[in-house]
Amino acid sequence: MATDGSDPIPPHKTFDTILVLDFGSQYSHLITRRLRELNVYSEMLPCTQKLSELSWTPKGVILSGGPYSVYWDDAPHVDDAVFELGVPILGICYGLQEIAWHFGKNVLAGEKREYGHAYLKVERHGDGEAGGHVDKLFAGLEDDMEVWMSHGDKLSHLPEDFITVATTTNAPFAGMAHREKKYYGIQFHPEVTHTPKGKIVLKNFAVDICQARTDWTMGKFVDQEIARIRKLVGDKGQVIGAVSGGVDSTVAAKLMQQAIGDRFHAVLVDNGVLRLNEAQQVKETLTAGLGIKLTVIDASERFLGRLKGVTDDPEKKRKIIGNTFIEVFQETAKKIAAEAHKSDKAGGIEWLLQGTLYPDVIESISFKGPSATIKTHHNVGGLPKDMNLKLIEPLRELFKDEVRELGKNLGIPEDLVWRHPFPGPGIAIRILGEVTPEQVRVAREADNIFIEEIRAAGLYRKISQAFAALLPVKAVGVMGDKRVHDQVIALRAVETTDFMTADWYPFDGAFLKKVSRRIVNEVNGVCRVVYDITSKPPGTIEME
Ligand code: GLN
Repeated sequence: MATDGSDPIPPHKTFDTILVLDFGSQYSHLITRRLRELNVYSEMLPCTQKLSELSWTPKGVILSGGPYSVYWDDAPHVDDAVFELGVPILGICYGLQEIAWHFGKNVLAGEKREYGHAYLKVERHGDGEAGGHVDKLFAGLEDDMEVWMSHGDKLSHLPEDFITVATTTNAPFAGMAHREKKYYGIQFHPEVTHTPKGKIVLKNFAVDICQARTDWTMGKFVDQEIARIRKLVGDKGQVIGAVSGGVDSTVAAKLMQQAIGDRFHAVLVDNGVLRLNEAQQVKETLTAGLGIKLTVIDASERFLGRLKGVTDDPEKKRKIIGNTFIEVFQETAKKIAAEAHKSDKAGGIEWLLQGTLYPDVIESISFKGPSATIKTHHNVGGLPKDMNLKLIEPLRELFKDEVRELGKNLGIPEDLVWRHPFPGPGIAIRILGEVTPEQVRVAREADNIFIEEIRAAGLYRKISQAFAALLPVKAVGVMGDKRVHDQVIALRAVETTDFMTADWYPFDGAFLKKVSRRIVNEVNGVCRVVYDITSKPPGTIEME
């Protein structure tokens, strides 16, 4: 959690850990996720990781897939020291080829590429082979199973001391195992849902072969994380952090409150472009509900003043809001710090809380291209540099679904745990055109009706993100026999699992009719409602 390496008890020292070395496959992170779903802790590092620089020993290592061919001159290769660790190794796709390459350089381009579904035939060898360990990968599975393939290269022959444990019609070496050592390779991807029994293969590897304990549970994580925060911050240390009402910052804040109580100071900046009554609701939930010490700063006038007249470039809105946020947060942090210094708790504020999640961490260390690029960690928005704060990131090992589970564990209300994502610049980027207090009112009211109806129809959890946007045009309508020339609201609702691609939600006509009727009737200034039926790509989820 501390970026300066002073982390007292990282999870890989407490939990048995399977190390995934990433060769750049788009599915690598799924391997880690599947293992954690099996309650086995797993971390991912770039394939170029020098094992001698690792301060802990994994229970097992998985080499991921990757877009390269092992026989290319500039192909990435694993540190040979991995074969000296004395722990089981599983190679997946490129990982299988990498093991074969290490032992015999016997990989070449196949005549046929193999993408999509394939049928795997398991070959069992019985106890005769090294006490039966070669059969363990497919233990408890049928002899035929559906798998998902995505490769063009193949092994020309097995490396010495390996035997075949599975085949497909196109891949005679779809699964291999070392006769003595616990090294395994599979050509298919067990981590994707298109391999229905893939999780069992991963379980066989992690739990039966590596003997990793299955004790990665959120309850245990909470206890150990609280101990970790206390140790890191000490008896007197104080922490400040911004909250937005979103799930990540709320969970992080609650965890801090459990760990250090009032020595954690949460700050909510009201930028004037939050949702209807949001600042008030967040305040109630965090203070009365969760017991978090919170300072709310109403800076709406400053934000709206700076947004006045900005009509041309949406990026400009984002920048203004981002910079003003940092400014307000810094001022507030300084005031709170001065107070903290005066109080008998002493110590002052040394730490800044960040709700960084594991995907951000993976992204920032990810291996891209044949040479390792270690990007500097970018998720430090709002960090007041001149205050010299150290970062504390209690969620940096967690995926989003784990954060939700943690939230439930900490007693955070369901509504908040499942809240749709909301952009930092708020509804300013849902008002296409100039952001004025009047436009904010219109967009907020329309959005509120839309979300209210989505909840009432029981659709909130099915939809990944929904909002009302205000278009920068006017249209003609007739209201009360009078011709009107008023604004147009666009509704947007999408379903997605990863927010990289998304599809618009197919509401039924009656639902849309009801929402449209309510908005036109209840929101002054709107005479027309349209529904956005653009998928992502080519559309984005937000409109600006
Ligand atoms: N590039 C290698 C191949 O085509 C590995 C592919 C993979 O790991 N998905 O065989």
